[in-house]
Amino acid sequence: MRQALVAGNWKMHGGLKANAVLMQELVDGVAALDRVDVSVCPPFVYVPQVSQCSGDKIALGAQNLATEVSGAFTGEVSGEMLKELGCAYVIVGHSERRTLYGEDDDCVAVKFARALDAGLKPILCVGESLEQRESGVTEAVISQQLDAVLERSDISAFAQAVIAYEPVWAIGTGRTASPEQAQAVHAHIRQRLAKHDAKIAAQIQILYGGSVKPDNAAELFQQADIDGGLIGGASLKAADFLAICRAA
Ligand code: 13P
Repeated sequence: MRQALVAGNWKMHGGLKANAVLMQELVDGVAALDRVDVSVCPPFVYVPQVSQCSGDKIALGAQNLATEVSGAFTGEVSGEMLKELGCAYVIVGHSERRTLYGEDDDCVAVKFARALDAGLKPILCVGESLEQRESGVTEAVISQQLDAVLERSDISAFAQAVIAYEPVWAIGTGRTASPEQAQAVHAHIRQRLAKHDAKIAAQIQILYGGSVKPDNAAELFQQADIDGGLIGGASLKAADFLAICRAA
């Protein structure tokens, strides 16, 4: 009953020429797909270019947004700007933003609310570090990350949101969570939301991210609570990204 979603997070990759080639291949490839929503999230500067060539089956997303709406915030980009340029989604709280750019749970909660205010669907990323997993606090960490957002934007906001579970230790490492490990956390996320609203919890798309490749996508996506993926490295190669979309 939940439609699958596969979103490509290009991170800080791309270039005008490479993007044009990649998008043409993706547009051609997704024409035959109807059971999966597909999105790409290029760097800000390429949003207009990708918007021009993404066709009507690939939704546009961004990788981040400002905590503010407008004003003297040098270097920042607001949700309203992204919406105006055609974005439907925006990634919020990616672990690279949290660890490399100091975004704490509060900042992520503000960005989540700003995205919704701007009419964008936030893709809220949550995930534990290796140290946290090994010390047995994975579920507590995920709960805390979710609760910070729930405190600011209540549960009804999640009707317009997507969640991505991305274990930090699986991102860009080639080490993916096993389908069972991922499923357990996805189920935990859904249960946590269900305490607030069972219907919203049952409907929300929860994506898995972290070293998803064509050869491991299908077994991850077959899990009951995994509704697709947030794809980093493999989203830069059309053949790989399309194979992952087909697996959803
Ligand atoms: P990789 O697929 O490169 O591991 O990256 C996952 C990710 O961070 C997507 O947001």
